[in-house]
Amino acid sequence: MTIRQLPDTLINQIAAGEVVERPASVVKELVENALDAGARRVDIDLEEGGVRLIRIRDDGKGIAADELPLAVSRHATSKIASLDDLEGVTTLGFRGEALPSIASVSRFSLSSRRIGEDRGAVLEIDGGRLGEVAPKPHPQGTTVEVRDLFFNVPARRKFLKAERTELGHIEEWLRQLALARPDVELRVSHNGKPTRRWKGEGDQIDLGLSDVRIGEALGEEFARNALRVDHSGAGLRLHGWIAQPAYNRASADQQYLYVNGRAVRDRSIAHAVKQAYADVLFHGRQPAYVLFLELDPRRVDVNVHPAKHEVRFRDARLIHDFVYRTLHDALAETRAGTLPSAQTGEAGAGYGADASAAAPPSQAGMYQYRPTAPLALRVQETQAGYAALYGNNGGAGGGASAGSYAGGSGAGAGYTGAGSAYAAAPALPHSDDETLPPLGYAVAQLHGIYVLAETAEGLIVVDMHAAHERIGYEKLKFAHDHEGLRTQPLLVPATLAVSEREAEVAEREEATLVALGFEVTRAGPQSLALRAVPALLAHGDVEALLRDVLADLREHGESRRVGAARDELLATMACHGAVRANRRLTLPEMNALLREMEATERSGQCNHGRPTWARFTLSEIDRWFLRGR
Ligand code: ADP
Ligand code: MG
Repeated sequence: MTIRQLPDTLINQIAAGEVVERPASVVKELVENALDAGARRVDIDLEEGGVRLIRIRDDGKGIAADELPLAVSRHATSKIASLDDLEGVTTLGFRGEALPSIASVSRFSLSSRRIGEDRGAVLEIDGGRLGEVAPKPHPQGTTVEVRDLFFNVPARRKFLKAERTELGHIEEWLRQLALARPDVELRVSHNGKPTRRWKGEGDQIDLGLSDVRIGEALGEEFARNALRVDHSGAGLRLHGWIAQPAYNRASADQQYLYVNGRAVRDRSIAHAVKQAYADVLFHGRQPAYVLFLELDPRRVDVNVHPAKHEVRFRDARLIHDFVYRTLHDALAETRAGTLPSAQTGEAGAGYGADASAAAPPSQAGMYQYRPTAPLALRVQETQAGYAALYGNNGGAGGGASAGSYAGGSGAGAGYTGAGSAYAAAPALPHSDDETLPPLGYAVAQLHGIYVLAETAEGLIVVDMHAAHERIGYEKLKFAHDHEGLRTQPLLVPATLAVSEREAEVAEREEATLVALGFEVTRAGPQSLALRAVPALLAHGDVEALLRDVLADLREHGESRRVGAARDELLATMACHGAVRANRRLTLPEMNALLREMEATERSGQCNHGRPTWARFTLSEIDRWFLRGR
């Protein structure tokens, strides 16, 4: 065969192979164009899952009639003009290949009226065959119609799935776009019926900052359990929402990451998030989050993927660390009492459920986490202090507080009776101006497993063993962090057979390895001599640990594996040290436990990621008895 230049249409069809995978990719490209054109409202009409028709209309700045043919020609764009522009791209598009690619595999029409012009125009293209520009009335903005996608590419058409599936992909793309742009209204219809309306929230909304839209996109359950993150440093800003650990998923289906407003997948950041959750998430479960990373566009290369699903960072290591630290610090604040508790409604979620069904709201959602804000209440009182408090306040306090409790909740005199029913139990200590601790005061122990506590809002139930385990674990970690890492020399150095690459990493990262407690030298092209190991882990499989550490260092430039292995060991120790079920606790002991929970980082979940506490508000309890209906 001789070498020949391919015709334009075929070139576009080849490009379409990368850019246009399915109807959802068309919707993505066209809506992104509308957003780049400054649209405030975008209408998306679909038929048969987008295969028969995708029509996208926007009220953006439009395209001049004489530029319509240019818009659909290859490598034509208004968004960049030079390499310098490419290196600092701020628009979603810049490659100038979406419209020609889509037009080459469909029956395509582009109608528009440019801002400031009084006539609109249309250009039709059939499977890549360009028509003539004709006048056509059109409001300011642009309409793109894509009919019979892949009608001329049977091989592609065969891979299309059922209407519902394709529609599902489109909806997921739109959700992703909608999360980032709550300022824009999106209206969707399918087969002539309106199916979704994302209401625009005006211009005041900071990128991705709408509570309403987050609830619409990911459900009320996510919104209620979301922890707001906003942290800046080193020229980076990370903000958005992360679900507190008790809300988790079986799959990674609620993980949204945006870099400068563009939805992307990034292994390194996903890894950083996973590590931040490592200590608080139930094994095998996935965290949920919507995170926006913002940085100087010159520090990120967006031109690495034809469909722009990925980016490349100039300083990936710094960003990994920044994301890890920000989220780790935010998650440290998941103390019992300060955040929404484990879900207690019919959804009965706990750690195992996807918590998709709505549970009765126990608190208004959206918790603000600000790294600069003072830490949550730290209770200093000792166990003895509480004993004294109860000793002084006992019976008299019971009556008085039952009264003020009922008054405060507005639930009426009925509760005064209820209060006196736990005659022997000291209820809320008398306090007019003092604010109550978030977990309240213990009133009883149930079956030797649960502590019941009374708060101003209702009832708190604590899993005593789970809570104690976390407190012990955090104490052990704290002690070890401050003691520094001890190294234990091996009597006989171990020789480790490794790959050449691993050996090179070990040599290069010698200082890092020493800091982690390993003394390693190269013994040959494919072998290492291991002379000392982290003391605490000396009895485990240190060789396997070292191999994993080397793999991490190679892939991510850092490793938290030694820390993780140490934590695992400390967690086991804490578990054995924690109060066993069926141990009777005295009230002062129970109160001491509650106060320690409030003061301990991550105490909202046990070492295995299960919740340690649940809250029942008085109004929830009222509903059990059909009160107030
Ligand atoms: P890119 O978005 O990478 O520039 P496209 O092929 O998607 O490439 O679009 C080509 C050009 O057509 C854009 O640069 C823009 O000038 C114009 N364009 C496309 N869609 C719209 C729209 N909805 N509103 C205004 N201009 C548009
Ligand atoms: Mg584009």
